[in-house]
Amino acid sequence: MGSVLDAKHFRDEAAAYKWVEARVWPNGRVCPHCGVVDDSGALKGKSTRLGVYKCYSCRKPFTVKVGTIFESSHIKLHIWLQAMFLIASSKKGISSNQLHRTLGVTLKSAWFLSHRIREARKDTSGGMFGSGFGGLEADETLQGIDPRKEPREDGSYHAGMYNRVMTLIDRDSGAARSFVMTEFTTEETQRILNENVAKEAYLITDEAPQYKRPGEQQTFHAVNHSEKEYVRKEAPWVHTNTVEGHYSVFKRGMKGVYQHCGRQHLHRYTAEFDFRYSHRAKLGVDDVTRFARIVEGVKGKRLTYRTVDREIRPEA
Ligand SMILES: [Zn+2]
Repeated sequence: MGSVLDAKHFRDEAAAYKWVEARVWPNGRVCPHCGVVDDSGALKGKSTRLGVYKCYSCRKPFTVKVGTIFESSHIKLHIWLQAMFLIASSKKGISSNQLHRTLGVTLKSAWFLSHRIREARKDTSGGMFGSGFGGLEADETLQGIDPRKEPREDGSYHAGMYNRVMTLIDRDSGAARSFVMTEFTTEETQRILNENVAKEAYLITDEAPQYKRPGEQQTFHAVNHSEKEYVRKEAPWVHTNTVEGHYSVFKRGMKGVYQHCGRQHLHRYTAEFDFRYSHRAKLGVDDVTRFARIVEGVKGKRLTYRTVDREIRPEA
């Protein structure tokens, strides 16, 4: 068995294009301008750039990069794939600094690569968790200080100063979905539940009253941490150990790899950890498959340099 990184698409630019095309266009080549399928041909000639096709319908040229996270990037596609594989295969994440050193790109390019790749892993499926009377766990955790919040008069910190993340885990699919909250209010909690959780779901949370859904009985505030009741004896499925396990990986990663993450890009880090969790080895997903799934997620996630520049401040 050779090295995974020996594969041609990690080393050769033309092979990288072919490999990405097969994933972005599994059902035929789509013109990003007019949407026509399989009515285009490769532009050939010495001066032609790699992977350029001309649409016979609207006459415009395009490549597989148009409308994806790769658009208007000068970084070679095989280097993108190397970055994606490294990110897909490291359990606690990989810093921009490490990518910069390993891939030989500038630090600024490394920030840009990693934030765009995080974007590709955003769960945009929109599916409802807990459908078909399934179970799901919900919990919240504090992650980093929100610089807009003031400490107490004596300078000491309080819980309201921290960024708060809520996470839902679907017990059937094993997938995780996290949200950076503005405030941990009933209103915001209920909005997230309404948008992501099926009405018939069995929702298992800690004792926080914010989760109580009006007019239904299937919310279990069963894990009463204050009474040290972590798993209910008479109903052993009522626990939040799964979501707490996800948080322990998230916390270790944020502490060890992404120490200086600001609130403005916290949602991309939670998406990264959610993706890795939702496509983890325990669910039968190996590193190569997880990497391929990231590449399949590049569509419709175009992020302009300006957007990233505005949102991203360098990590230390
Ligand atoms: Zn067209």
